[in-house]
Amino acid sequence: MSAPLNHNADYRARHGLRPVINVSGTMTSLGASIIHDDAIAAMAEIAPQWVEMDDLQRRASAVISRLTGGETGFVTACCAAGITMSVAGAMTGTDMLAIEQLPSRTDGLKNEVILQLGHAVNYGAPVDQSIRLAGATPVLAGTATQVMPYHVENAINDRTAALLFVVSHHTVQFGQLSLEEVVEICRPRGVPVIVDAASEYDLTGFLARGADLVIYSGHKFLSGPTSGIVAGRKDLVRAAYLQNKGIGRGMKVGKESIAGVMAALEAWEKRDHAGIRAREQAALDLWKTTVDAMPGLYGKIMPDPTNNPLDRLEVHVLPESGFTATGLAKALAAGDPPVIVRDHEAELGFFFLDPCNLHPGEAEIVAKALTAVMNAPRPENAMALPRHSVEKALRWPD
Ligand SMILES: *Cc1c(COP(=O)(O)O)cnc(C)c1O
Repeated sequence: MSAPLNHNADYRARHGLRPVINVSGTMTSLGASIIHDDAIAAMAEIAPQWVEMDDLQRRASAVISRLTGGETGFVTACCAAGITMSVAGAMTGTDMLAIEQLPSRTDGLKNEVILQLGHAVNYGAPVDQSIRLAGATPVLAGTATQVMPYHVENAINDRTAALLFVVSHHTVQFGQLSLEEVVEICRPRGVPVIVDAASEYDLTGFLARGADLVIYSGHKFLSGPTSGIVAGRKDLVRAAYLQNKGIGRGMKVGKESIAGVMAALEAWEKRDHAGIRAREQAALDLWKTTVDAMPGLYGKIMPDPTNNPLDRLEVHVLPESGFTATGLAKALAAGDPPVIVRDHEAELGFFFLDPCNLHPGEAEIVAKALTAVMNAPRPENAMALPRHSVEKALRWPD
């Protein structure tokens, strides 16, 4: 492949930023997405223009409805903002005074949100904080590994504003109630079910299976700009949208992101999904062949844990390689160019190579980087163990 690489090389070089290659997935910490060309064009086009924002959001609502099957929708700053605004909307409805009084004054409002304990994850921040930001109290149901219907039934009372259901590889993948089971409990009791589907390809399934609201990140698989999409029942979407006159102000989305995500959604409808899968498969095959030829490494092609149409290569790192999984990930990240792998489970002795964010030619560069690192003398931290530490974060901006 001879397509040009790193089309922002100039920008990054000019600002002293490393030209990272992302094989870790759609990561906020690496800039969220490769924004689709159509979205970039829409953002550039609207940037110098005035526009009536409620009308732009009405147009976005129509596109969101078409793609999700939801009655109504709007765009916000990100999925986390969408969760907070949806929870707030479930609390306040269209009561403007209540909207202005969040998050500290919630007397008289329903202010509890149920969350299965195995769904209480951290996606860069704790999901329960997205609930608390609205002024609501998370009510954790069940245990991390087992939630029964009676846990959720007994958590519901007359202060229950909503139940938040999280779909993610981060959650405990067993022992939790399914969306159908949760809907069966909540619907007859009048409790809205809000689904956090930030990273899911399935734009219609959660509403079709009974969710009242569903929230996506615009900047994950959709390849939009950093943004969030809320879709579903009109009364709940309207109440969530009204939070822009309250706590949503600090989560403001710009016209450029609304236009960008609308274009990304339209591009998603036309995208050559089969062609993309074939390119991802070719990358996985190349990496598996490379890894399997190395002493102490082997690769397994694994399906996505939440059934997105995406496979990843699970690279097992045995001691005879001279590396731990963490040590090898660090060596790749220190390379030229830096290759950032998906290593959040490194204590289990493997990391993943994720093919969904590659520019043309980068799959080959990743294979070469692996070979180079394996053939070089072992660096000092080759046998490093994963450390759960905020040390580096605390030093920023130094
Ligand atoms: C990424 C993610 C979020 C946060 O999404 P943002 O759009 O970055 O705010 C929330 N929930 C889950 C499950 C995620 O994976």
